[in-house]
Amino acid sequence: MSSGVLNGQVLNGQMLNGLSVDVEDWFQVGAFETVIDRKDWDGLDCRVERNCEQILSLFEEAGVKGTFFTLGWIAERYPAMMRRIAGAGHEIASHGWDHARVFMLGREAFAADIARARKVLEDVTGQRVTGYRAPSFSIDARTPWAHEVLAEQGYVYSSSVAPVVHDHYGWREAPRFAFRPIEGADLIEIPVTTAEVARRRMAAGGGGFFRLLPYAVSRWAIRQVNERDDRPAVFYFHPWEIDPDQPRPAVAPLKSRLRHYTNLDVMAAKLSRLVREFRWGRMDEVAATEAARAPLSRAA
Ligand SMILES: [Zn+2]
Repeated sequence: MSSGVLNGQVLNGQMLNGLSVDVEDWFQVGAFETVIDRKDWDGLDCRVERNCEQILSLFEEAGVKGTFFTLGWIAERYPAMMRRIAGAGHEIASHGWDHARVFMLGREAFAADIARARKVLEDVTGQRVTGYRAPSFSIDARTPWAHEVLAEQGYVYSSSVAPVVHDHYGWREAPRFAFRPIEGADLIEIPVTTAEVARRRMAAGGGGFFRLLPYAVSRWAIRQVNERDDRPAVFYFHPWEIDPDQPRPAVAPLKSRLRHYTNLDVMAAKLSRLVREFRWGRMDEVAATEAARAPLSRAA
């Protein structure tokens, strides 16, 4: 990769990648949806505040800014935390109201869900919300109306698609990099980073891929995207992933528990390395540079 400026993205030989945190608590993840009822959430031990404090320190020490895709449910309960995150220069974006997956909602309920979340996020921070990430990357071939609703509500970008096959999510036919899902609309979709190994794609922008596999595998995947594909990577993680002391409900399925709890203790150190080894920024910055790239491919 050459140094200099290409589409405003490459500076000193390092491309600007999107750093994102999906702000939800340990009991709100898809893996526990069948064992923890939404109506019981209020009585559970919330740990999101202390975990976000640690993330803010980690980002500050590395001198990076990122995007916090936050549930409306969380923002309503922790307005001071939201103001601290926004005040530190990070972007506040939407992760929907209470982590209901888009394909479970239908068009009307989805429109109501994201409008409700956005109102709270904007009210508590006083800043405009222009980005959205679907819970569990749940915009896929089943939800052709989802991007239309986002465009109607004036969102600038979405980062809600995983162009892979996975047991919980995925839209295999979607492009790997930023595209315009709606003809005639400015909205862009910036999928989570994938890696191609032996002609197979896997989600490589965070989650279990980052936490369960050696750090070098993620470093390789991001380098491939930046250098071979000449595109920004989109990385995500969750506050509960840096929290080895979170409650552990024994009733969850074994596979979910293995995936959820492995390597929580080494996560902070891995993240600290990642944020220093690459160049990172807010998703709205990445969206702006990707939107300026011409031509962006059209719908999947
Ligand atoms: Zn989530």
